[in-house]
Amino acid sequence: MLEQSNELAAWDRDHFFHPSTHMGTHARGESPQRVIAGGEGVYITDTTGKRSLDAFAGLYCVNVGYGRQKIADAIAEQAKNLAYYHAYVGHGTEASIRLSKMIIDRAPAGMSRVYFGLSGSDANETNIKLIWYYNNVLGRPEKKKIISRWRGYHGSGVMTGSLTGLDLFHNAFDLPRAPILHTEAPYYFRRADRGQSEEQFSQHCADKLEEMILAEGPDTVAAFIGEPILGTGGIVPPPAGYWQKIQAVLKKYDILLVADEVVTGFGRLGTMFGSDHYGMKPDLITIAKGLTSAYAPLSGVIVADKMWQVLVQGSDKLGSLGHGWTYSAHPICVAAGVANLELIDELDLVTNAGETGAYFRKGLTETLAGHKHVGEVRGDGMLAAVEFVADKDDRVFFDASQKIGPQVATALAERGVIGRAMPQGDILGFAPPLCLTREEADTVIAAAADAVKSVFANN
Ligand code: PLP
Repeated sequence: MLEQSNELAAWDRDHFFHPSTHMGTHARGESPQRVIAGGEGVYITDTTGKRSLDAFAGLYCVNVGYGRQKIADAIAEQAKNLAYYHAYVGHGTEASIRLSKMIIDRAPAGMSRVYFGLSGSDANETNIKLIWYYNNVLGRPEKKKIISRWRGYHGSGVMTGSLTGLDLFHNAFDLPRAPILHTEAPYYFRRADRGQSEEQFSQHCADKLEEMILAEGPDTVAAFIGEPILGTGGIVPPPAGYWQKIQAVLKKYDILLVADEVVTGFGRLGTMFGSDHYGMKPDLITIAKGLTSAYAPLSGVIVADKMWQVLVQGSDKLGSLGHGWTYSAHPICVAAGVANLELIDELDLVTNAGETGAYFRKGLTETLAGHKHVGEVRGDGMLAAVEFVADKDDRVFFDASQKIGPQVATALAERGVIGRAMPQGDILGFAPPLCLTREEADTVIAAAADAVKSVFANN
C-alpha cells in the first residue's frame, strides 16, 4: 500500500498538470499532495484513511453531499441505456427535455429556455456570444462592451478569464481582453470612504458604473455581469440597495444583466436562485455547480423570453445558431441533473441552506468576531467568510507575503475541516454542502476557532 502510494505520488508530481496549483512546489514535492478516495455525506476520505469535513463542498459544488445513491443510479442507468447522443439539430433525450422544464419551473419569472454546456466558464462564453448576437440581430453592432466587477469570478477561459476581476487569473496571460471592462467591487468592508453607510456605498458603486457607461458611450455597452453575492472574490454579500441601484442604471441605458449563479443557483442562499433572493431581474442566468451537485459536469445559460424572441428572429434571418459543444446536454450529465434537482426537493435542502446556514454564520460570528485579528465575519445562506486584518480599528490588512489566510486554512485542515483560503486577501471561506446539520456546523466552528487561535499564537 505504502509502495503504491509512493508510486502514485511520484506519478502525480511527474505527470499531472493540476489546475490552480503552484507548478514548481508541486512538481518538486514541496507542497502537500492529497489523493482523495471516497466521500459520504459532508465527509471526504483520502488514501491514507484521513477523513475531513468538507466545509467547502469541493469547490462550492457538491451541494447534496457525497455518496448519493439516487444520482449514482441515474448516471448508471443512463450510461447503460444511452451514454451519448448529441443535441444538435433538435435532438434530445428524455432527461435533457425534462431537466430544461425543471430548471425553467424553478427559475425567476420571465425565463424561457436553457442552453446546456459543461462548465461555468463555457456557459459564460455562451453568454458573451448570445449578447453579441442579440445586438447584431437588433442592428446595434457597436453595442458590444461587457462590464464586470473587480473581484468578480466568471471563469478561466480567454473571455471569461477577462470577465473575472482577480489579478491571479490575469497575470502573465495577457488578460483582460477587450471589450471587457471592470467596475468597482461592492465590497463594503473595504470601501475607501469609511464614513459611508451601506446605502451610500451602493449609490457610490452605481454612480461609478454610470460614469463608466457615459465615458465609454452607452451605445457601446451591451451587458453587465455579476454574481448575486461575490464568491471567489471574497464571499461578499451586496451592500443594502446595491442591486436595485445597479439595475436602475442598466435600465436607463438599455444594458442587459447577466446573473452569474454558478455558485448561488439551486439553493445556496436559502432560495432557489440568488436573483430572487436579492431582487435581481436578469436577462441571462449562468448555472453550473449545484445543477448536478458536481456528480457530472453540466452547466447552462437560462435565457429570458425577451432575449429569446430576438434570438429566434436571428435564426430566421441567418440560419441555424452557429454555436454548440459536442457534449451540450450530454445524456449522462442531464440524467444526473434531474436526479439531483429531485433530491434537493425531497430533502428540502433549500430550506436547510437558509436555516442551518443562518445557524452556522451566527455561531461563527459569536465565536470569532471578537478576535482582534478578525475584521469581519460575513456571508448569506450557506456561504460564510472570515476576513483577517492586522489592525482592526484602523482596518490595516496583512501583507500578502505573510499568507495569513492560507495558514489558517492549513491549520483548519489539520483539525479535520476543509475551508478555503480565498485567492485575494486573507479570507477564510466556507460553502458547506446544503445538507449540513447543526452538529456538523458546530464541528466546523470549533475547528475554525482553534485554527485561528493557533495561527495568531505563532504570528
Ligand atoms: N462563475 C462563477 C460565479 C464561479 O464561481 C465559477 C467557478 O467557480 C465559474 C463561473 C466558472 O465555472 P467553471 O470552473 O465550472 O468553469
